Amino acid sequence: MLRHRRFAFAFILLLFLSALPAPAQDAGRPMQIHLDASDVPRKLLHCRIVIPARPGPLTLYYPKWIPGEHSPSGPINDLSGLKISANGKPLAWRRDDVDLYAFHLTVPEGVDSIEASLDYLGQQAREAEGFSSGTCMTAQLGILNWSLVTLYPKGLPPREQKVQAHVKVPQGWKFGTALPIDWQKDGEAQFKTVSLEMLIDSPVLCGAHFREIPIGPKDGPPHFLVLACDSAAGLEIDDDLKSQYDRLVVQAGELFGSRHYRSYRFLLAMSDHIRHDAVEHHECSDNRVPERFLVDEDYRTHASAWMLPHEFVHSWNGKFRRPAGLTTPDYQQPMKTRDLWFYEGLTQYLGFVLTGRSGLYTPDLMQENFALIADWARNQRGRTWRPLEDTTGGAPTLYYARTEWGSRRRGVDFYDEGALLWLDVDTLIREKSGGKKSFDDFCRAFFGGNGSIPDGTSPAVKTYTFDDVVRTLNDVVAHDWKSFLHERLTSTDLEPPLEGLKRGGWKVVYETSPSELLKARESEDKNINLTASIGLKLREDGGVIDIIPGSAADKAGIGPGMKLLAIRDRRWTADRLKEAVAGTSKAKDKLTLMFENQEYFRTFVLDYNGGARYPHLERDEGGADVFGAIFGAVKRTQ
Ligand SMILES: [Zn+2]
Repeated sequence: MLRHRRFAFAFILLLFLSALPAPAQDAGRPMQIHLDASDVPRKLLHCRIVIPARPGPLTLYYPKWIPGEHSPSGPINDLSGLKISANGKPLAWRRDDVDLYAFHLTVPEGVDSIEASLDYLGQQAREAEGFSSGTCMTAQLGILNWSLVTLYPKGLPPREQKVQAHVKVPQGWKFGTALPIDWQKDGEAQFKTVSLEMLIDSPVLCGAHFREIPIGPKDGPPHFLVLACDSAAGLEIDDDLKSQYDRLVVQAGELFGSRHYRSYRFLLAMSDHIRHDAVEHHECSDNRVPERFLVDEDYRTHASAWMLPHEFVHSWNGKFRRPAGLTTPDYQQPMKTRDLWFYEGLTQYLGFVLTGRSGLYTPDLMQENFALIADWARNQRGRTWRPLEDTTGGAPTLYYARTEWGSRRRGVDFYDEGALLWLDVDTLIREKSGGKKSFDDFCRAFFGGNGSIPDGTSPAVKTYTFDDVVRTLNDVVAHDWKSFLHERLTSTDLEPPLEGLKRGGWKVVYETSPSELLKARESEDKNINLTASIGLKLREDGGVIDIIPGSAADKAGIGPGMKLLAIRDRRWTADRLKEAVAGTSKAKDKLTLMFENQEYFRTFVLDYNGGARYPHLERDEGGADVFGAIFGAVKRTQ
């Protein structure tokens, strides 16, 4: 209680202080940011920032809560070489005792601006790293996120703070960005003055092997695939795939009925030496994918096939419309993440909808996708203690939770369980309206409106609350949506929300062969997924990742930290393990696995005779194929 009160007091004080006029800065003149990215191949950025200032105390912030990352992930440990000066004379700075992202200094008399120079220390990206600290720089390409190299003065909100930025990329490299360009020459560019908010929302993708491909319809705002790859060969795109991305843009227009950007760029950093992930922006997205993402047929079926549609949806859901709790005035105030079930969960659903409607997933792949999600959701036994809305509230730390014990813990489940939840909503709207209405109607109402953005301004943000979502659902079809959503957000039932699949005309069944999608994901994630049979997920090296509570593996006593060595008396391989599991339906002997547990060896006998077991979807006879209609392309006449 005391802690809570102290926090509330500090928060009110913070609000009060941020409302005061800033004494030591000048709102009229823009900041200048000079980013020297010529050392990208050695993963080092240099930056010089000129900040208008008036004499007196000044606080500079390093961005901490980066929009889209939903956590305090600004990589402060990689900020280096900070030197501040005024009129060429060094100024002393001191880090705040409590807020480690704040630096205090005193601007001397007779000075109207200060200069800060700093470096950002990149490194080889590792798993389980924050997005911002997951460096995206290789010998051949880089994504330059301005938040990595920016200090900004306390006081003026980033939406009002004007910035003029300048960038220099390695010799011979090209670049692409949503930022409007003032001039460019030989790998250097100066951008038009924009708000700090827009600058930080507009990364620059640069690379030695670079290509920009216009996609989408001829009318309306332009769209581009902006590619930088570790090889020239990876920049090729065949006509089929290109036409699927064309359709992605068209189908998004059909779904939302409006666009709230001047242009949109899918920035793709394509390398096997970066962490594969993505983050949304208003007029672009920062997508990090394998080197052969566009040229290898295999990658089309991988998880990342829906990455671009997902990030594209965020331009409407997350950027144009944003939960009030995630809309903060600067990058220092904590975000309240409870509404991520809408921000991310709905985006996951609509990302899948557009992946299906654009043809990036065939109908078969979309069925396999939902079969895997339904089975995964059943295995998330943490749902019996942690309701879905606790995974959203806890998101800032859950993003960094280990994968071990994942099904007991529950992680950021609001993505895939969100897809199930919104499928439930969509099919219910269709059922209650006799097929006349669908979730598309909600999208047009909720995400519609005037999309024009006058030059020199930032794209608009229209905030919303839980009640706004309920009201718009009721405008589409009258129902007790408040209770409907509340139940699903607070439930601790063992059973996940699979009503949408049933209403969509499908059911989950288990067969002896894995789907093509599961095989592709095992190969992409380098793991062996036997969760539907013996309840075990292993890394390729045999290390235990997860054990499903109540499964044979769980009852036998297997745990993380152990490493599979042998099946009975023979060294294990993935194929032998899968064969041995399949054989349990016939064999008299039980499945016997030998593990090493931190230098000690132990043999476990699994009480399991169900054979190979993998999830698939099968038509539920009697109902219409609503699922197929949702994920099929739509054409409106209006
Ligand atoms: Zn997202």
